[in-house]
Amino acid sequence: MFLETQKWNGRIEVICGSMFSGKTEELIRRLKRAKFANQRVEIFKPRIDQRYSREEVVSHDSHSIPSTPVDSAESILLLANNVDVVAIDEAQFFDQNLVRVCQILANNGIRVIVAGLDMDYLGNPFGPMPNLMAVAEHIVKVHAICLRCGDPAQYSHRLSDSTRLVELGEKDVYEPLCRHCFNLIQNECKSIHTPGN
Ligand code: ZN
Repeated sequence: MFLETQKWNGRIEVICGSMFSGKTEELIRRLKRAKFANQRVEIFKPRIDQRYSREEVVSHDSHSIPSTPVDSAESILLLANNVDVVAIDEAQFFDQNLVRVCQILANNGIRVIVAGLDMDYLGNPFGPMPNLMAVAEHIVKVHAICLRCGDPAQYSHRLSDSTRLVELGEKDVYEPLCRHCFNLIQNECKSIHTPGN
């Protein structure tokens, strides 16, 4: 668990992991503590994620905090006025400009907390997340539980046949898997699509 034990200067924190790993819960936990410390908090998320609500960061266990949907990373710079903490949820859906925006905020003394999927459904690094991790002061990787074997899971296996990179959904669309089970399924898919196997 990540404990805040000092007064923060500008910095970048990344919370990453697969679907159902508790990223948003951890983000909300840190924000609640910042609010208890009377810090001014603003939360942003990409407008693309409208699964539950346009105005709230909602975690899967329904703890929520109001947030502002934005069309681009640059909008965060325009809207983050007079704040101590900027939180960004579903960060994988922003483009690479998010890295520059987070750097500018942190360089101006703001604590930036970024939560997002570190890998897409194929297990490849997702959007700006790897570069954000490179420039962050602090990174936490949280894990779901593999639905096939019960080990810690880091992959978001897609159950549908869609090959779109962005496919919003919940447990009907994704299942968290460990490396071993993810590789088993990927190899099964390859053998189905390879003639002669
Ligand atoms: Zn497994």
